[in-house]
Amino acid sequence: AKLGARGTAVRYSPKMQDALLEKRAIEEELREALVKDELALFYQPIVDSRRGAIVAMEALVRWRHPERGIISPGVFIPVAEQTGLIVEIGAWVLRRACEDAVAWPRHVRVAVNLAPKQFHQADLIDTIATALDDSGLDPDRLELEITESTLISNTDDIQAKLAKIDALGARLSLDDFETGYSSLSYLNRFPVKKVKIDQAFSRQAIESPKTQAIISAISALAKDLNLDLVAEGVETQAQLGFMASKNIFLIQGYLYSKPRPIEELAPLLECWSDA
Ligand code: C2E
Ligand code: CA
Ligand code: CA
Ligand code: CA
Repeated sequence: AKLGARGTAVRYSPKMQDALLEKRAIEEELREALVKDELALFYQPIVDSRRGAIVAMEALVRWRHPERGIISPGVFIPVAEQTGLIVEIGAWVLRRACEDAVAWPRHVRVAVNLAPKQFHQADLIDTIATALDDSGLDPDRLELEITESTLISNTDDIQAKLAKIDALGARLSLDDFETGYSSLSYLNRFPVKKVKIDQAFSRQAIESPKTQAIISAISALAKDLNLDLVAEGVETQAQLGFMASKNIFLIQGYLYSKPRPIEELAPLLECWSDA
């Protein structure tokens, strides 16, 4: 038993115990997975729907587990964030994504997710600069996706790191944006170039008039603030059409493609090339 909030003893329910054991097991195996090279990157295109051209690919990590098959990041990234393993995983992802992207057409950027914990590392900027230098990728082709929880902490240290990333020439995107109209305006305090509106908006775009109003407002404000907007999780032609009606043309979603392993990217890059 451990002490609860009011100093009373709370006992873990069997369910909590299971969850804890499961977390421990994942943590230990994940540590080994890094050593055994079991992590892999899948890529999902972000398409300019006006031209039908790929503008970027987002790197999404997968765990090729020898027994359990491909495990989604939804399962192990939260554990990695809690245990701090995300720092090593994140560094690996950055390095690999830069190496992979060098081989793509020049106009195709690569987008990499940065967890809030990575911003607590003193060597984050070094890690990014080294990944760029070693791979030879033009910094302008690297997009780093951060979340509001990173921005919200808004310490001098975070501000300084964001400024350094900007100075390196890499581009910052705000991922999973969902809090609506007014909070976008604080973005002009940060060197963010692009906002990815949360999947939930795409999902509700057709049915919910309220969601439609929010998307409209975000689109108008993004235009004023000179921010690129991406709609994530677009699965249907109707959702695509709605986004286009709101001047949102950068689209990521199953409608165009699921995330794919690198071996399967060539046909995508051919069919949506810029030429
Ligand atoms: P995210 O960064 O928001 O990535 C987009 C997620 O939405 C991906 O899930 C993608 O497969 C999924 N998705 C894209 N289009 C559609 C669609 O049309 N419909 C539906 N239903 N889903 C769609 P995935 O690959 O499972 O990744 C989940 C999350 O795990 C990511 O969400 C991100 O937060 C995290 N993650 C993945 N790779 C990394 C990484 O390298 N580092 C960090 N820190 N987090 C990562
Ligand atoms: Ca992302
Ligand atoms: Ca997202
Ligand atoms: Ca998300």
